[in-house]
Amino acid sequence: MQVLKFGGTSVANAENIKKVIEIVKQSSQKDKTIVVVSALGGVTDLLLNAASLSETGNELYKEKLSEFEQRHLEAVKQLIPVAQQSQLLSLVKKSCNELEDICNGIFLLGELTARSKDRISSYGEWISSQIIAAAFNANKVDAVWKDAKELIVTNSAFTAAEVDFKETDSKINGYYNSQSASIIIIPGFIATDKNGVTTTLGRGGSDYTAAIIASALNAKALEVWTDVSGMMTADPRLTNNARIIPNISYQEAMELSHFGAKVIYPPTIQPVMNKAIPVWIKNTFAPTDTGTLIESTSSSNGNIVRGISSINNIALISLEGSGMVGIPGFSKRLFEALSSEKINVILITQSSSEHSICVGIDSKDAGKAKHSIDIAFANEIALQKVEPLKVEADLSIVALVGENMKNHTGISGRMFGAMGRNGVNIRAIAQGSSEKNISTVIATKNVKKAINVLHEEFFETTFKLVNLFISGTGNVGGKLLAQLNPQAIFYKKE
Ligand code: ASP
Repeated sequence: MQVLKFGGTSVANAENIKKVIEIVKQSSQKDKTIVVVSALGGVTDLLLNAASLSETGNELYKEKLSEFEQRHLEAVKQLIPVAQQSQLLSLVKKSCNELEDICNGIFLLGELTARSKDRISSYGEWISSQIIAAAFNANKVDAVWKDAKELIVTNSAFTAAEVDFKETDSKINGYYNSQSASIIIIPGFIATDKNGVTTTLGRGGSDYTAAIIASALNAKALEVWTDVSGMMTADPRLTNNARIIPNISYQEAMELSHFGAKVIYPPTIQPVMNKAIPVWIKNTFAPTDTGTLIESTSSSNGNIVRGISSINNIALISLEGSGMVGIPGFSKRLFEALSSEKINVILITQSSSEHSICVGIDSKDAGKAKHSIDIAFANEIALQKVEPLKVEADLSIVALVGENMKNHTGISGRMFGAMGRNGVNIRAIAQGSSEKNISTVIATKNVKKAINVLHEEFFETTFKLVNLFISGTGNVGGKLLAQLNPQAIFYKKE
């Protein structure tokens, strides 16, 4: 069996949903298929927006809910023949009435809990999946709908619930083995806790739903259908020369997705990696494009660096002072102060002189971090053993990612050299001993320049040389090289 997941843009409207039906129709001829779908594009934001408007006593939430209703009524009318519409139209109406009741309650109380947020946002996938299942049937493609809330069991950490894999796997297997339909449509993102209360798996969590199902059923493949033709060597909004990565390992994909490549929700990789299930990233709007294949070992096609990624809104906090040198326990207390405020640590550096510890965090947490760390080290600050925490904002992380970087000398030299030659100052550097990721912290205003010079350094130089060679000689070898894709050309050099 195989699992195909379609994201918000792929199911944004009736026209796109028809493309999805066509893709699944073709693909399901080769294997039994579970289709996991997102809410119609933008609907989760719309619902959460309605929720926060009602919390702040703003009646505009009613407009958001009527927009929700209109979008779904329109989808039903465009996808389903009139004679079969009534059941779905009343489902949409009933859901909208429930949503209005919930939001009225929040409006009156002025209180929005994480539990209510999950309840509200769950309607997006719950309705989209039922409309899509009906649209399959209206197009004479047999499909059954199954509620993910009956299959995926989580704890009660609302808005980012953690899956109970044992129970979930057994429910998924129990259902799947009793079901003979060759296409099953399931809503992504939504689940329930042990008390049957609705939970969600975090924003972007439909990918994760698909991976959980693929792993439970030992699927032959998981296909994540989105609006781009795969993972790219860099963010195409930052460099015109970014290109699709044909294959990549699970580890590299995880690194790239954690570092801002929004193509796949990072937790998705773990369940499929454990079972070595291949994952394809495919484009709903260009289905014949090859896409990106994520698997255990990506073919070593000579590319030392697999991709370049970046994250903005980074603040660098530094704890400095001669009183820290050689004394154990400072970093423990620093990290405890951060974790007590639930502040996520993105990057850590400490030089061997132990005179300073530098931590990269999300800039929205910088104020909280300063407050809690200055309190935690109040004594040492008073005795001038350490200085009050230094905070620098407007920073970004730019990272090179690639498993083949391990044991290759000179990569960081080339990275820092390229950035230095182009006037990009590096504020901090981190590389774990796994050597899969070399991260630099730089000023946000330099990110575009940095990505472009690094892309040129690691992905374009050889390509240019080969082109020069081809145009210069016009010989057979050159022509042959021209037919190869750039990945193969890199192999020649490295
Ligand atoms: N609809 C949810 C979101 O927008 C989940 C998903 O699409 O993956 O975050």
